[in-house]
Amino acid sequence: MAVSDHVNLEEFMNGLRRRNPGETEFHQAVYEVAANVFDFIADKEIYHEQQILRRIAEPDRIISFRVCWEDDNGNIRVNRGYRVQNNNSIGPYKGGLRFHPSVNQSILKFLAFEQTFKNSLTGLPMGGGKGGADFNPKGKSNNEIMRFCQSFMTELHRHVGEDTDVPAGDIGVGAREIGYLFGQWKRLTNKFTGTLTGKGREYGGSPIRTEATGYGTVYMLQDMLKKAGHDVEGKSCLVSGSGNVATYAIEKVNQLGGKAVTASDSSGFIYDPHGIDDERLAYLMDLKNNRRGRIEEYANEWGCEFHAGKRPWGVKADVALPCATQNEISQKEAQTLIANGCMAVSEGANMPTEQEGIHDFTKARVLFAPSKAANAGGVAISGLEMSQNSARITWKEEELQALLRNIMGDIHERCAEYGQTKEGYVDYVKGANIAGFIKVADAMIAYGVV
Ligand code: NDP
Repeated sequence: MAVSDHVNLEEFMNGLRRRNPGETEFHQAVYEVAANVFDFIADKEIYHEQQILRRIAEPDRIISFRVCWEDDNGNIRVNRGYRVQNNNSIGPYKGGLRFHPSVNQSILKFLAFEQTFKNSLTGLPMGGGKGGADFNPKGKSNNEIMRFCQSFMTELHRHVGEDTDVPAGDIGVGAREIGYLFGQWKRLTNKFTGTLTGKGREYGGSPIRTEATGYGTVYMLQDMLKKAGHDVEGKSCLVSGSGNVATYAIEKVNQLGGKAVTASDSSGFIYDPHGIDDERLAYLMDLKNNRRGRIEEYANEWGCEFHAGKRPWGVKADVALPCATQNEISQKEAQTLIANGCMAVSEGANMPTEQEGIHDFTKARVLFAPSKAANAGGVAISGLEMSQNSARITWKEEELQALLRNIMGDIHERCAEYGQTKEGYVDYVKGANIAGFIKVADAMIAYGVV
């Protein structure tokens, strides 16, 4: 095919929308990558000839299944479970499970697609996948959670395995759920292998997996600031969320001398100008992890503001770390952050910034680390959990801390290499998309048409 015969970005996206009707999150995620990749491959015939982007944007398979379970009152409940196996060109499918009422095929396809590039960026041999269910763990008893996890795994176990597909946690799936899921997998297969990551330390979990995503997000921030001649020390940070990623991001901000002044949950956000220091962070972690409380209780405890139903992006600060969920920074909120002098954004959550917001950040030359680079620390340690499980050893915490720091530094370098602009600004979105794409694309070319 001659170069002039190639479909352009708009034609490619029209085809994708036609084939995947109504899947807006998936369209958004593919567009974000395709916009950069189309430019990069303009003069690289092989990627066109081999239809690489079209193939990466078509999941290898999507498994959808019924999950029946019995609640504490003896009622039969029915949910829908999924596993999207997007691409295994550079390693077994790898990506988390999300239990949240908003879960649908579009969201999981976007997450599995993103995961493919993120896992490639880590430099470790992992393909991309994602799964979950439209199950709401909120308000459920321990026994109900256990029964749900067991039923979910009863179907899922046919499709996963240490060399095939290795799920992990995500929203609504923490250490407790991974324990129930792994317990059922072990019972059904009569094997003890590293088929799930994020396991408890007593049964094959890796040191620092819990901290890795939040820490990595802040390392990425640190490297971007450093390259631009700045430091985390003394910077005020807006953090959204109060779950795993948010709380460990706050911990690392504190360790590096910054000051996190907000945290949130789905009910609103707290603004604490004193800073969420270590003592207050310990309270927040206990509130959210052990007592499953609401963020307003933090405001009552420490005498600060609670803004019901709002997000923190209107507060003036140096840096933003969105760590809750997708599309939580609208274009208008991005513009407010820019107007308030925000100099850097590092995305702890997956795709938290709307497309137009990313565009505005880039135009305003805000340092912007997209999620597939900024939050890759979690899956990187998961990849190392897989290695430890295969070798039946456990590395020391200090070794893993150093590995995490190095991996995030390498990701920053790779993004900077492909995202450097002539006037010195680094477009990390472009850098991450291209660096993530090349490795997967070249492996696909090596396999031929499969
Ligand atoms: P958690 O379930 O631990 O925490 C999620 C947090 O986000 C909670 O505070 C939750 O509030 C809040 N939240 C969820 N949905 C909304 C919403 N619609 N509006 C406002 N707040 C919301 O999840 P994680 O911290 O693990 O994950 C957060 C993000 O990071 C997700 O995008 C996830 O995909 C991504 N991520 C996580 C990784 C990990 O290692 N955990 C790895 C890579 C990415 P509430 O308590 O009210 O529900």
